[in-house]
Amino acid sequence: MSDGAKNDVKNKGKANSLTKDIKIIFKALKNYWKIDKVMIPVLVSESLLAAVQPYIMIFLTGLLLNALYERKSISAILTIAIAGLGIKLVLGLTSHYLGKTMWTKLRNQHSYQGLMLGDKLMSMDYEYVENEEIQNLVRRQVEYSQTFGGVYENMFYRLETVIRTGISILISVSVVVPLFFRTGSPSSTAGRVINSPLFGLGVLALISAGIYVTIRTMERTQADTVEHQKNLIDLNRKFFYYSNNFLSGYEKGKDVRLFNMKDLIAEESEKMLQNANRFGQTMKKVKWRAEVVNQPISTLTGGLVYLFLGLRAITGAISIGNVVSYAGSILQFIDSFSKFLTNLSVLRFNNQYLEELNGFLEPDPIKNPGSLPVEKICCDKPVIEFRNVYFKYPGTEDYVIEDLNMTFDIGQRMAVVGRNGSGKTTFVKLLCRLYEPTKGEILLNGADIRQYDYYEYLKLFSVVFQDSKIFSLSVANNIAASEDVDEERVMDALERVGLSEFISKMPQGINTYVYKDFDRDGVEISGGEAQKMQIARAVYHDRPFVVMDEPTAALDPLAEYEVYAGFDKMVGNKTAIYISHRLSSCRFCDDIIVFDNGRVIQRGSHATLVAQDGMYSRMWNAQAQYYANTKSAAVFQG
Ligand code: ADP
Repeated sequence: MSDGAKNDVKNKGKANSLTKDIKIIFKALKNYWKIDKVMIPVLVSESLLAAVQPYIMIFLTGLLLNALYERKSISAILTIAIAGLGIKLVLGLTSHYLGKTMWTKLRNQHSYQGLMLGDKLMSMDYEYVENEEIQNLVRRQVEYSQTFGGVYENMFYRLETVIRTGISILISVSVVVPLFFRTGSPSSTAGRVINSPLFGLGVLALISAGIYVTIRTMERTQADTVEHQKNLIDLNRKFFYYSNNFLSGYEKGKDVRLFNMKDLIAEESEKMLQNANRFGQTMKKVKWRAEVVNQPISTLTGGLVYLFLGLRAITGAISIGNVVSYAGSILQFIDSFSKFLTNLSVLRFNNQYLEELNGFLEPDPIKNPGSLPVEKICCDKPVIEFRNVYFKYPGTEDYVIEDLNMTFDIGQRMAVVGRNGSGKTTFVKLLCRLYEPTKGEILLNGADIRQYDYYEYLKLFSVVFQDSKIFSLSVANNIAASEDVDEERVMDALERVGLSEFISKMPQGINTYVYKDFDRDGVEISGGEAQKMQIARAVYHDRPFVVMDEPTAALDPLAEYEVYAGFDKMVGNKTAIYISHRLSSCRFCDDIIVFDNGRVIQRGSHATLVAQDGMYSRMWNAQAQYYANTKSAAVFQG
């Protein structure tokens, strides 16, 4: 995401100039062109054809009336009628076909946009994903789509009407305006006045004044609508929360019943409904105020034009057929003009969110992609060293890692312990290059890790984070993290984490979907089973470093014991780093590191640390006391 784009995010909410709005739309079309080359030409041709069609009938009627009035031959009249209807038929069919293609594509815009957002989130530097501004941006985009449809969908939908009605306005203006300057040769004084260019200009000035007032009224309405529609987004967010949590989120049912929260929720939903009604009333007022001005103006200008046309026809400046063509064109103008303004204002409202999405989708190269190949240099014996590493999160003041120095020997079992917020997870993020040190360096076989190819470097690690996720995909896809699955290895990984029996009972074994989002027959799994599956994913990937950040927090004590007892076998000769609050499960590690306030304050084996008077022995004694009173003490304290 570029700096310009970040500023765009901050400025969101202020109305843009027309030039800026046009630029935003062109940029979005350019982005869209990269993924689909059909929509834009189809939309432009469809709008053009749809705009022209009504005029064919208007002019055909005018031509036929003139031909009849001038007593042309039957064959000449038939030729005009057949040619006109033929053109209408061809244009009608083509426009219908293009319209269908366009609407079908339009319905998929929502998914397209979701894919674009997801794709970007997965490919951008991780520090941006955790960034609050980006999280707010994504939330705003999602909320906007829930209320108005996706920004791309809206843009195309409104753009079609703006182009169609814009062309219609151009045609009607180019047909009608010359009329105001056309003079006949009337004999009476009144006829000469009516047909004088000055009279035409006067009528034109009155119409322009009417148009001006309409535009100003629409602008005011637009500003009010923008203001109130923000409330609608707010309302919808609450509504979605309500329906997701209280109507369909069955897991919340327990708390609702046990704490008798029914009345509280009913009261909240009543408030929500009252707000929705208030919003409806406000919008009604805003629209009504605009109509009270616009309707009389359009009736008066329409009447004025008809009067003018009639006078010119009576005084012989235009033929009967032309009266029909002019009158039809004017009706088209009146209809198109209000649609043009309404859709243009919605298009510009949508632009505020489109601009934000444009900025977000801007290509954002990985900061330091590196180029050194990892595999050739150090695949066999990767040694990683932290040297004087300091780190603070972007946009924050305090260091959360300070002066960190350590080396990981190959095959080592290392445990990282410490209080909440002491920097353990941040240390793992730095190790895995999800963030870069603010000061100091991390070395892989002597070279700064930033010099190595980013994606190859990432392949050195199998990580299970506290908040790692199992997705709504098949068990096999979840474990292989790919479409490409080695079934034997999946089975082996499941066996090692003690899940093979559980999975074999599933309806389609490893091909069963987890959760029901992608497959109605998917199975629900518990937090502990999900955690075991994440460990199986780490085992399957067989990478030189295995990092487990609180991997067993959701496991019951026996399952945790099984996992740890099998850990050595599971991890083999790899370098393993465990982060855990349960000190008893860290005892088997050769090396234990104690973090406090971002610094390593103690390091050594369990026996050494427990003998020292420090943080480790304090934590150990506190837990030992707790476990001494539980049945699991026998398992964990040996
Ligand atoms: P631990 O894993 O030991 O519980 P963390 O490494 O998660 O600790 O956090 C260390 C400190 O960094 C905490 O004070 C935490 O609030 C802060 N922190 C963690 N993630 C972020 C972030 N994305 N942005 C800003 N501060 C963060």
